[in-house]
Amino acid sequence: MISYSPLADSVPTQERILVIYTGGTIGMQQHAEGLAPSGDFAIRMETALKQLTPAQQQSLPSYEVVSYTTLIDSSAATPLTWQQLAGDINDQLTTYAGFVIIHGTDTLSWTAASLAYQLQGLDRPVVITGSMLPLESPGSDALDNLHGALQFAAKHALQEVAIYFAGQLLRGARAIKQHCEAANAFTSPNYPLLGERVGDDYIYYPSRGLGLQQRGAPRFELPDYRLVNQGEIVRIALWPGMSAWQLSAWLSDPRVKGALLQLWGAGNLPDDPSLLDVLAKASGEGKLLAAISQCPQGSVHLGAYAAGHGLSDAGVLAGDDMTPEAAFTKLAHLLAQPLTLEDQRQRFLTPLIGER
Ligand code: ASP
Repeated sequence: MISYSPLADSVPTQERILVIYTGGTIGMQQHAEGLAPSGDFAIRMETALKQLTPAQQQSLPSYEVVSYTTLIDSSAATPLTWQQLAGDINDQLTTYAGFVIIHGTDTLSWTAASLAYQLQGLDRPVVITGSMLPLESPGSDALDNLHGALQFAAKHALQEVAIYFAGQLLRGARAIKQHCEAANAFTSPNYPLLGERVGDDYIYYPSRGLGLQQRGAPRFELPDYRLVNQGEIVRIALWPGMSAWQLSAWLSDPRVKGALLQLWGAGNLPDDPSLLDVLAKASGEGKLLAAISQCPQGSVHLGAYAAGHGLSDAGVLAGDDMTPEAAFTKLAHLLAQPLTLEDQRQRFLTPLIGER
């Protein structure tokens, strides 16, 4: 990591925000092959923040920027990327008042959900942001997002991993990317906003936050994500006409240790007993299987439909109203730990960080 501090002031680090730059569109510049992550982010961010009004600049918290040496488009992120970020935050946790992670938007909500599981018990803000247009592009959303992320990262009452984007503060483990062009790219389909920008104010709603609900004692879990970095977990969205042999091709592979199924509606699947047979066999082999809906809003209720009734019997766990990101990264987090299958199943069903 390269470190850079724009501050010539005496603010102690315990009152500063640490900004960790990983790459993404926000810091990209035009290269011969197209947009690619670019460096010098600290200086570029400082220059951009000078465009704020004097009052806005005055209200900014002190911050420092560190930049990863290898900057990525977030499509290149893997469970090891999530692990590295959590480890770096853990290493610096008590040195800073809060953290801002600069990340590409494409897999930003995956990283946010994974960090939330790894940083359970977090007692300060970790705010992830990015932008749809590069920092220096005309009409870019980058400055607004950086400004808001810094403001929320300075709020002591916020004690969880959150996403700040387009004026909204979302729980990290509840967010999905909903738009691939609009500035308002993220939404939290099954949980209200944790906060929002209203004019020049950044309002946090503590009654919705983990700080008041279930933060519990600081107890980070930083398991070895190398155990889930080689395709051990698969994500399977059903489609009409899906056949048992196709499901089996995924689930019978001995390298696969867990699967996230995306069912229809409130928990429906084709009325084909051989599909349930494949699921029951995989469960019987000790694989961790969970199901959520393909609908972004609402919750699965396994057994609501006759066709879905056999899912519980086949050992499939209901993911209720979790996002695909939250359900998948929870499987990864549990499978990366030396837990019995019973413990993994029980923890999957238990809300750990307000993800369900
Ligand atoms: N491809 C980019 C990335 O995810 C998109 C973005 O940053 O918005 O890194």
